Amino acid sequence: MPEIRGNEWKYVQECLDSGWVSSVGAFVGRFEQMIAAYVGANYAVATVNGTAALHIAVLVAGVKPDDEVLVPSLTFIAPANAIRYVGAWPVFVDAEPEYWQLDCQKVVDFLERECQWRNGELYNKMSRRRVKAILPVHILGHPVDMDPLLEVAQKYNLMVIEDATESLGARYKDRMVGHLGDIACFSFNGNKIITTGGGGMIVTDKEGWARQAKYLTTQAKNDPVEYIHKEIGYNYRLTNIQAAIGCAQLEQLDNYIAVKRRIAATYTCGLRDVRGITAMREASWASSIFWMYTVLIDELEYSMDSRALLERLSDAGIEARPLWQPLHRSPPHAASQATDCSVAERLNRDALSLPCSVGLGDQQKRVLDALKMPKDHERRY
Ligand SMILES: *Cc1c(COP(=O)(O)O)cnc(C)c1O
Repeated sequence: MPEIRGNEWKYVQECLDSGWVSSVGAFVGRFEQMIAAYVGANYAVATVNGTAALHIAVLVAGVKPDDEVLVPSLTFIAPANAIRYVGAWPVFVDAEPEYWQLDCQKVVDFLERECQWRNGELYNKMSRRRVKAILPVHILGHPVDMDPLLEVAQKYNLMVIEDATESLGARYKDRMVGHLGDIACFSFNGNKIITTGGGGMIVTDKEGWARQAKYLTTQAKNDPVEYIHKEIGYNYRLTNIQAAIGCAQLEQLDNYIAVKRRIAATYTCGLRDVRGITAMREASWASSIFWMYTVLIDELEYSMDSRALLERLSDAGIEARPLWQPLHRSPPHAASQATDCSVAERLNRDALSLPCSVGLGDQQKRVLDALKMPKDHERRY
């Protein structure tokens, strides 16, 4: 559940009182500026949701039909769908076992071994398609280990599109997530660290890309009076009411992150001695926002697999959830290439995300108690 306890009412009331409720209004620009400043980027363009932000980011990054984009298999499906929206193809790459993020070494290996540099462009030897971009997703609040990826992207002139929708406020080696590649996307859906009900943001340092993103998200209107359009655009605008909520939410982000990190520390400490449960970790080079606190269940050690535990928690009124089906197993993406994704499969099998909303409070102790001593619990049922 989101926390609505700051200036949300006040700012929304300003919208209602002034009549600026729709896609024009001062809060849209203000929210864009606040996000750009927070991330340290030059430009931000608000969108109706994070998926729309990804769609437009892929377009302005110059990804063309039949191009390929490297993307993690273990993520929510939206970034892979966005690649398909423009007629391009995802190539799915495995997760790494330490922090469960995109395995950048496997990205490098694929580009070095499976691709060929020809006339200043990189081609997948097997599919013969051009590889145009890498789309890392910082999942669960933790950053991807970006440096090897940025290096190989530079070497082969690939665009780097960050899906930072789950990790607003996270840092990679003291750099802000969302300001590491060429362009980045955020989401303000209800389940994210801050919400506008629904909403998204594109962030970039490139002025031309930002201008193009604004143009494409606002129906690609070339003449505001005569309704002349030179391209097919989209109505991907965020409303002033949503932006007003966003401004109020962003004021509280650092506080939310502090609470999230405290919840994570309490789980990690409380689960330290529970055999068969591996807590999620934070790399020494990272500052995670622990957006979605997740653990791995070792079936033999814990004497119960993750799905049986899921059911047992549900019986106790505790809502846990598995991670996403790896995208190389996802029917709508069956035609896309995947490298070996065995880590993603294992994580999907063993992982459970635990309740961790900012308002969790005392309930956390109940969750911890339910996770300890599975056998005793079994006997009671
Ligand atoms: C939430 C999310 C999105 C999409 O955001 P919406 O605002 O729901 O469209 C994209 N990618 C990832 C990884 C997400 O978790």
